[in-house]
Amino acid sequence: MESRKTAIFTDLDGTLIDFNDYSSELARPYVQRLIELGHLVVFCSSKTFGEQRVLQQELGIEMPCIVENGSAIVAPPGFWDESIAPMRIVDGWQRVELGKPAAEIRQRLNRVESKFGESLRGFSTMMTEDVASITGLDIISARRAQEREYSETLSAKLPEDVWESLDSAFEYEGLKALPGGRFRTVIDSSADKGAAIRVFGELWRAQSSDTLISFGLGDSENDQELLENVDWPHLVKRPNGSWAGLSGRRIEKVNGVGPKGWVKVAQQLIGEEQPV
Ligand SMILES: [Mg+2]
Repeated sequence: MESRKTAIFTDLDGTLIDFNDYSSELARPYVQRLIELGHLVVFCSSKTFGEQRVLQQELGIEMPCIVENGSAIVAPPGFWDESIAPMRIVDGWQRVELGKPAAEIRQRLNRVESKFGESLRGFSTMMTEDVASITGLDIISARRAQEREYSETLSAKLPEDVWESLDSAFEYEGLKALPGGRFRTVIDSSADKGAAIRVFGELWRAQSSDTLISFGLGDSENDQELLENVDWPHLVKRPNGSWAGLSGRRIEKVNGVGPKGWVKVAQQLIGEEQPV
């Protein structure tokens, strides 16, 4: 019989964790059960490795994850056979990098800001207290949010048409500004969640004969590429009870806000595994 491995690629803010209080409470038992069943639960968000690792520890798991909007795939020690692709080992974790170092991103961003004539309020240029107050994160988490390795979060509040007018300046610098739940994140234009999922699939095929079946969960426009690159894409509701306007053919709209919707998809997956 053909062997299969299921990977659940999931966004975090507003999807697996609550949009407002960042709680992972609802999803925790389901994440653990999915992993017990042998599935991979692969976080795929704008968050840094440091932030994602803390969440993994809260949930008691150790899994590969896709960090900073697809800038790198970071896997636990020994997850990949190191001969299959170039990877950088940091504290034992294996990094396959698609994006560029944050210092380079910031340099290019400075040029966009000088053209624009005002600061876009990147997290790394702000006081940690200010990041904490606008995000609702505690000081330690806010500091972690500032320590981005491949990207910069922008907290400037600008009208949508102004952001759009900046797109060509970002593009000129080889950058793109992705709208997230609350803020925009600037990354190298070659990195995206979907590209990282495709690379994950290639790495998987290079070392395993098991067929990888991919599920995807997201809540916002920022998850378009994530959902386009999985076999079974799912969109959960936003806090206002609506679905983001994504243009995917096969996207399954889940009737539940954030983690409530996440749990519904997990229950389906777990149900399929139970003996009949
Ligand atoms: Mg989200």
